[in-house]
Amino acid sequence: MMKPDLDLFRSGTAMPVQSVVLAHRNPDGDALGSSLAWAQYLRARGQSVTVILPSEFPQHMSWMPGAKDILIFDNFPDEGREAISLAEQIYALDFNSWERVDPLQHQLLESSATKYLVDHHLDPEPYFDAYYSDSSACSTAELIYRLIEDMDQLDKMDRVMAENLYVGMLTDTGSFRYTISAEVFRVASGLLAKGVDPGYIQNKVFNTQSRKHLELLGHCLANRMRIFPELGTGVIYLNLDDHRKFKIQRGDTEGIVNYILSLNKINLAALITQQNKQYIKLSLRSKGDFSVQKLASQHFNGGGHKNASGGRSDLSLEDTMKKIVELAHTHKSEILNSF
Ligand code: 5GP
Ligand code: MN
Repeated sequence: MMKPDLDLFRSGTAMPVQSVVLAHRNPDGDALGSSLAWAQYLRARGQSVTVILPSEFPQHMSWMPGAKDILIFDNFPDEGREAISLAEQIYALDFNSWERVDPLQHQLLESSATKYLVDHHLDPEPYFDAYYSDSSACSTAELIYRLIEDMDQLDKMDRVMAENLYVGMLTDTGSFRYTISAEVFRVASGLLAKGVDPGYIQNKVFNTQSRKHLELLGHCLANRMRIFPELGTGVIYLNLDDHRKFKIQRGDTEGIVNYILSLNKINLAALITQQNKQYIKLSLRSKGDFSVQKLASQHFNGGGHKNASGGRSDLSLEDTMKKIVELAHTHKSEILNSF
């Protein structure tokens, strides 16, 4: 862990100022859960807080406590700009580069507000005034809990805050399967002690999918999966027609890439989705030592974590597929021996 700027967080959070809490584009359960919980904490300390997300969150997360008050910048850009211009403090959560909050990045960089980062991604950018950053944490939600604990403020955490944090931990660990440590279970246990009902949250998050979602999964596995056993690699791709046919929205493809890794001796998995003519999004996952964070940052303008990263490609779907297979060839022995 980078040495945390605890004193700055302690003094900053004790000021009754206007602040903005901000997470990344295409927000997931961790972006949402950590932002909502942190906003609630700041309000309990007397701050006036606006939570801003650059783009919509998945519909099935709208039950989360406080989700309805989030300002979606894509839908309300003027209100978003105004909140940022009035903010004296900006808390960036669950992302490490301003590029992840496009199109707000210029205004954020120019803002004179004090900027705080709480995040668990590798290689945070050096544009923040205070850091609480640890890439060994399973989620930003875990870090929010630890930060509040480090500031001796756990008594301010109620059940609702704990529920939001639990969602972040649950989703970023894929139901406590990935990036597990003793610390993860210690923090999760602290959240349960605050009154979280794990069965209730599990149901809300994972058992509320639509029939379309299951059909899309079936289509991916039956018709869109390519496995390269000699490279320890698997790829699923979705083209423009698939997007139209299944009316794919953000969140609908969440988790699909992980199915590839359930295959024996497959250590690298990619999901390539062509969302529109110009934009191809990649989700990369690995088992063991092979770092998809390096692959994403060096070849796909992206990043994330060693075993879970994302990025984008300017090539066609077909050429993106070829590029992944070529990269798998180049790194064949590392991939095969990764796990
Ligand atoms: P996912 O594949 O689920 O979209 O993302 C996996 C991880 O990679 C997440 O931690 C996410 O924040 C990160 N990530 C996804 N897309 C990008 C990207 O375009 N740039 C960067 N820097 N990180 C990304
Ligand atoms: Mn996260």
